[in-house]
Amino acid sequence: MVFTPQAAAGDLWLPDGTRTTLAEVVVPDNNVLRPQPRPAEPPARDPEYDRQSRLFGDRGQETLRRLHVAVVGLGGVGSVVVELLARLGVGRLVLIDADHVAGTNLPRLIAARRDDIGRPKTSLAARNARQANPEVMLTLIQQEVQTPRARDALADCDWIFLAADTDAARHWVNETVHQYLIPATQIGVKIPVDANGTLGQIHAVTRPITPDGGCLWCNELIDATELAIDMLPDAERERARYVPGVPAPSVIALNTLAAAEAVNHFMLAATNLHHDDTGQAAVLHRPRSRDRDLQNPRHDPQCPTCSRCHQVT
Ligand SMILES: [Zn+2]
Repeated sequence: MVFTPQAAAGDLWLPDGTRTTLAEVVVPDNNVLRPQPRPAEPPARDPEYDRQSRLFGDRGQETLRRLHVAVVGLGGVGSVVVELLARLGVGRLVLIDADHVAGTNLPRLIAARRDDIGRPKTSLAARNARQANPEVMLTLIQQEVQTPRARDALADCDWIFLAADTDAARHWVNETVHQYLIPATQIGVKIPVDANGTLGQIHAVTRPITPDGGCLWCNELIDATELAIDMLPDAERERARYVPGVPAPSVIALNTLAAAEAVNHFMLAATNLHHDDTGQAAVLHRPRSRDRDLQNPRHDPQCPTCSRCHQVT
């Protein structure tokens, strides 16, 4: 294989004795580089995306069209992420959520109607994505992310948005990032209210999970007990929890703040437009005090999921 920052070419010898030439190399860094043996002809401009192409270039817009992106969790955050990705012209979306639309979801799901109550969240997200871009290719998985079908679909993606807040979703997306070297972004909004009803600091968090850092186990963002409970069959899961879950506060404008931050990060990485090296840092918005922080991920050199030693052996 010959590799330069601008091009990569190679002759692959496969285990069955056949040979093939290398089509593309993917470098999942702060900008996701995709060098090929020789530069492809620039694509013709699609007039519909004229205003975006003025930022991304026609090649950048074409890159977005070729990308295969998963959204895990199609609730308040994921619903916004799907809308943004489809409007950007991302060509292939994998939409994963086992839930149905409830009446209490309507204020937060994009373009949800009262007659959507009871329908799968995947159907609503698919309707929105097709409305934004009739050419989008969709894979709908109305299952939990830990099922084999969902995990196989994740392994085939170029980027994953993690917008579900279960420990199982965090664990399986984290595994996929480190096993298959696929970048992901975790998105969450925390609105802490104590037992007396006192509101704490609101956090809207966007956390890159990259093959080179930011593992969710190292950063203590997966609870092993909760993960074990999440992995039980549906009927046993609620029984296993000592205290039944209480719905957390959730508001569309706060969800949109985090969703937009995450999609902007992906969009600039995919089109090679990041100009600094803060790609692995999480972004924390604190809307109540109108400030914003970058938080570098911790990395445990002994971590069985993301340490290099483990990957080599
Ligand atoms: Zn780790």
